[in-house]
Amino acid sequence: LGQLTNPLLGLGHMYQFLRESLVDTEKLIELLNEPVDVQDKPGAEDLVVKDGVIQFENVSFSYNDRKGRAAVLNVSFIIPKGKHVALVGESGSGKSTIMRLLFRFYDLKEGEGRILIDGKDIRDITQKSLRSNIGVVPQDSVLFNETIAFNIGYGKFDATEEEIEAAACGAQLHERIMYFPDQYQTEVGERGVKLSGGEKQRVAIARTLLKDPPILVLDEATSALDTTTEKEIQKALNDLVKGRSSLTIAHRLSTIANADMILVLKDGQIVERGSHSELLKMNGTFAEMWAEHIKVEEDTHALKA
Ligand code: ATP
Repeated sequence: LGQLTNPLLGLGHMYQFLRESLVDTEKLIELLNEPVDVQDKPGAEDLVVKDGVIQFENVSFSYNDRKGRAAVLNVSFIIPKGKHVALVGESGSGKSTIMRLLFRFYDLKEGEGRILIDGKDIRDITQKSLRSNIGVVPQDSVLFNETIAFNIGYGKFDATEEEIEAAACGAQLHERIMYFPDQYQTEVGERGVKLSGGEKQRVAIARTLLKDPPILVLDEATSALDTTTEKEIQKALNDLVKGRSSLTIAHRLSTIANADMILVLKDGQIVERGSHSELLKMNGTFAEMWAEHIKVEEDTHALKA
């Protein structure tokens, strides 16, 4: 999903427009990323999320330039109301493609399966309503050269100061902000206080808390964070996913140990599924990945010691 969000950077000409229209995160993605050639059907209805049950039903998809090789193949899974599903798999295994399909950046054709939210095929609803019900915490969040309050607040058009502060607290960012020279009115970004990767991610979490969407997509940062930051972010994310149907692209297996279900992808297909402990017992691909993960952790600790 990083590919979806990185082009947000350096698009200065859009900045004024974005400021004026105070668009939300999903709108940003919609506006600035890969050209969306998906069209709403005439008379398409708005999605009204009741439970937020997400269902991938035999989904297969190939990018046009890949000579028919499937990026995802026969993928089926359900995220029940309020549950947390994580996708793991090596680079190129299809994790981001699943996210893009959920956002409907591409439409599935006849015979490529269906994606349903609360039983509604997402091809039959408006893209705007679909994306406004999904909150995103991307790998790299974009900061505007504006106050920290603005940067958090554009998750919700009419957010009050109290709401912004509550969101910052929920995202484990409030205390840090209180150390800024002008606290919530401190400029951040290029000309102001520079935020670390972990802090930027917490800004994204705060924005999403403010927006309060029923469905969440989390694209975990690949870059390693220090242990304290990692713990703070994990706490903030655990709070964020509570009660929302969530899908995480996981890069560090330890962060998704509590997911309700982990899907292991290989060459676009789900090869294993289950909870962390169930997958370890299978002694298959996930168990191998976990053993590798533990080894890397141990080596890192040994180097630090
Ligand atoms: P990573 O962890 O590196 O982000 P991923 O598991 O998210 O990888 P995808 O980005 O979904 O994997 O890619 C699945 C397959 O589709 C890969 O073979 C990739 O090369 C291909 N692919 C991804 N995006 C495109 C695109 N825009 N056009 C053509 N092929 C693509």
